[in-house]
Amino acid sequence: GSMAPAASASAAVALPPGFDGHYQAAASAGAPPPAAPAAAASSDASMARLRALARPIDRYLALRDLLAADPRAYYSLLLTHTEEILPFVYTPTVGDACLQYHRLPIKTWGLYLTLDDRGRVLEKLRSLPQQDVHAVVMTDGERILGLGDLGANGMGISEGKIALYTVAAGLDPASCLPLCIDVGTNNASLLEDPQYKGLRRRRPARAEFDSFMAEVMGALAAWRPHVMVQFEDFGNSNAFRLLDSYRHTMCAFNDDIQGTAGITLAGLLSAARATGRPLIDHRILFLGAGEAGTGIGELVARYLHLRHGVTVEEGRARCFYLDSKGLVCASRRPSLQHHKLPFAHDADYCADLRTAVQQLRPTALIGVSTIGGAFKEGILRLMAEINDRPIVFPLSNPTSQAECTFEQALEWTGGRVLFASGSPFSPARDAAGALRQPAQANNVYIFPALGAAAIETRAAALPDEAFVVAAEELAGMTTLDDVNAGRLFPPFSSIRAVSARVSARVAEFMVGRGLGAAPPGVRAGAARGEWAEYFSSRMWGAEAPMRSKL
Ligand code: NAP
Ligand code: MN
Repeated sequence: GSMAPAASASAAVALPPGFDGHYQAAASAGAPPPAAPAAAASSDASMARLRALARPIDRYLALRDLLAADPRAYYSLLLTHTEEILPFVYTPTVGDACLQYHRLPIKTWGLYLTLDDRGRVLEKLRSLPQQDVHAVVMTDGERILGLGDLGANGMGISEGKIALYTVAAGLDPASCLPLCIDVGTNNASLLEDPQYKGLRRRRPARAEFDSFMAEVMGALAAWRPHVMVQFEDFGNSNAFRLLDSYRHTMCAFNDDIQGTAGITLAGLLSAARATGRPLIDHRILFLGAGEAGTGIGELVARYLHLRHGVTVEEGRARCFYLDSKGLVCASRRPSLQHHKLPFAHDADYCADLRTAVQQLRPTALIGVSTIGGAFKEGILRLMAEINDRPIVFPLSNPTSQAECTFEQALEWTGGRVLFASGSPFSPARDAAGALRQPAQANNVYIFPALGAAAIETRAAALPDEAFVVAAEELAGMTTLDDVNAGRLFPPFSSIRAVSARVSARVAEFMVGRGLGAAPPGVRAGAARGEWAEYFSSRMWGAEAPMRSKL
């Protein structure tokens, strides 16, 4: 297993590995040297130093310095001040960090695999200082958050996301590897920037990309047969194909497609409860028909099929999309990308969102377009005319790309909105002066727990139904009072308890379906509670002895 044993002799702390071992891209002239290691210090002193830094990016850098200098202190801080620190390790700060990653004084502990490594990927994996790897987060940097092609700077996303496996689901950091596939970038300003550290070439044609990915995936499987691979922030011209190529033969999933779908399905199930109508009675309009949007639609359809007995096609018929060219509909079929075809329904084409809302009268509006401010006043007022409790999920990241803010959603729906965003918003007052809490549809409630379940059961593959059961389990953790008040997800402060339950449900499902095996220590046919107990007890904490030298 990848998690820490309950107790063992204390091993030397050597984590994460390779701070100067395997950073191939650091050779650029003029890159500032890494900051001097901070002295190990008490958690309070570290927090005080962190809080004294005004700019989020400086906090991000200080935390990286601490990780490099004293991993135990870093993880201890992260696990005890999770809510305060996470925004500086992950979103929203990680977006800013990726934009300027090549200019920042940092080294990565992740692995770069570039086109220049062709023919020797397996060899590179076998020579890593870190060998007992169970979880890989892999990006090629082509669509980082809503920020576009950032090439090798995308490493920041793999690093940020992999930390969540430890924070949320208790994976030992030594078992987690951030990976960046550098095949070049089409970002002209990066290619011209003398400080850019990635390959100075445009992205390859599909065949060349696919054959390199085949080598990478084959090498990963040969290196660690049960490794779980999370695809992250690939551009959508590759993401769907990549997922289809590997999802049935490896334990691989795409978090932008499937993890987002899982958390959003959970949010929709909870929001539907607050409307008093089950999800089968809803009609969802998406702005954006990319990885996130169509991934959500597919999972909603799968859920409606599994739990309400309609066909998957009937499920999809409740999901409508606008992309950059207007409503996705049957008349556009000849020119639509593959992943949009299942949602090209017989409906009158319209060019803009407002007309689509008028025409389709959706109960839910989901923003996955990367277009900040796209949910304008008139559109949300219309949603509030059509619905007692309009569901509005502006999911685009980072904050600047959100389709509306929480305050706007409250104001323009007279406070009746059921809201969840991708990036965090502050609480806001409604017209009656009451302080309202926004929900955040954070994938962290789904993918670390799901990944932990897959790893512990040595899953051979992760079917969509695993995401359905994860979403249902999560939605089952909120009460009607919670959802009525807009708290669509359990509090983040309970994330590890939440993860243990989600992991338990998914593991039970995987073993029940013969897709995985119960680990030693869990009886065949173990009850849900035993599984949850198992996952809780296996969680790695910075105070626990390190499992292994690296
Ligand atoms: P993607 O695959 O690139 O898809 C973007 C979609 O938006 C495409 O369908 C694109 O249209 C459409 N679009 C672009 N401009 C538009 C416009 N003016 N009007 C209508 N549609 C427009 O990206 P993705 O992976 O789906 O991610 C989208 C956003 O969701 C990102 O900001 C990401 O950060 C966010 N996201 C949030 C979460 C979360 O909240 N948990 C998780 C994952 C992703 P075309 O197809 O015509 O190009
Ligand atoms: Mn992503």
